[in-house]
Amino acid sequence: MTSEEYIQLEDTYGASNYKPLDVVIARAEGIWVWDVEGKKYLDFLSAYSALNQGHCHPKIYQAMVEQGKRVTLTSRAFRNDQLGSFYKILSEISGLPRVLPMNSGAEAVETAIKAVRKWAYKIKGVPENQAEVIFCANNFHGRTITIISASTEEQYKDGFGPLTPGFKIIPYGDSRALEEAITPNTAAFIVEPIQGEGGIIVPPAGYLKEAEEICRRHNVLLICDEIQTGLGRTGKMFAIEHEQVHPDGLTVGKALSGGFYPISAFLATEELMSVFNPGDHGSTFGGNPLAAAIGKAALQVLLEENLASRAAEMGAYFMEKLSALNSPHVKEVRGKGLLIGVELKPEAGGARRFCEALKDEGILAKETHETIIRFAPPLIITKEDIDWAMEGIARVLA
Ligand SMILES: *Cc1c(COP(=O)(O)O)cnc(C)c1O
Repeated sequence: MTSEEYIQLEDTYGASNYKPLDVVIARAEGIWVWDVEGKKYLDFLSAYSALNQGHCHPKIYQAMVEQGKRVTLTSRAFRNDQLGSFYKILSEISGLPRVLPMNSGAEAVETAIKAVRKWAYKIKGVPENQAEVIFCANNFHGRTITIISASTEEQYKDGFGPLTPGFKIIPYGDSRALEEAITPNTAAFIVEPIQGEGGIIVPPAGYLKEAEEICRRHNVLLICDEIQTGLGRTGKMFAIEHEQVHPDGLTVGKALSGGFYPISAFLATEELMSVFNPGDHGSTFGGNPLAAAIGKAALQVLLEENLASRAAEMGAYFMEKLSALNSPHVKEVRGKGLLIGVELKPEAGGARRFCEALKDEGILAKETHETIIRFAPPLIITKEDIDWAMEGIARVLA
């Protein structure tokens, strides 16, 4: 079958909730993918940072196959011999003592929202059904009804009401606004260290640390959503480490499996996680032994290959090259580590046509918010790979 035929097949039977670039990927390895005609591309999206370890990493694959032969699913009605050691490594790398495993990122965020609400009622003493959670404008935390209720993106909410109440929105990067929004009923502030889907928005230096201090002062929980920024992407294992921030809760997902399996988790302090009692919350697949084995291997690869420091080094190199392009179309190059956004000028005619042109150069990147091209390759990328890609990027942005 040709690419055309595969596309036709998808478009005939599928829902139209995505508008993908028309490249039909049949094979992948490391930073590279191949389409059904055998054309090779460098993957600069990494499945929205879910492939930090690179495609089809052999060690993660091995762990998946080994575990797949032994036991894949027990449900949490029984225990399994993989989960405890998965918790341990997640807890050790994050500094948070307790782990609650889920599957998708959105489920980890839902878990965080349930936890902070229950904490507000059971521990802080907020009157029943009065808890408020503060979110930032331009956030992205997932697609469930509750999570879109805290979104400021009209399209995400349009037609999906009635929405979940109890959320307040403040501008991103503005710690004064956070302090002003807090009331005695505030449970938590949930924030991304860098807004990924929002267009690679890096807040002012010190913002997260100030937010932490404000939250402490007012007995409000700080929850950082590191589903995209975590696991090495920004040059540290977690982006909160750039400012030595210690949140009460953290959500992780995406690269937690290196692309093999949907795995997410909510990590929290003893006090916050203590609100969950047997029967309060759960998931049939959450914490299954296959996921735990894959998750452990994915984290081991991040540690063994020093992928966080690679992201710092390669990110600095790549960002310098991008900034030196002096393209007439580019307004700003920004980011941290290998989470990089190139914002085009409004008159450039939108990022989509540039992404289409990059595709013809063998470079897969995806626009976000019409005018921003995101460059977020697997963290195993080398300087030689970046040099190769810069030639195509330079041609397209010239
Ligand atoms: C991708 C993402 C999510 C949602 O993850 P899914 O696995 O798509 O549900 C939540 N928060 C952030 C910051 C993300 O980037």
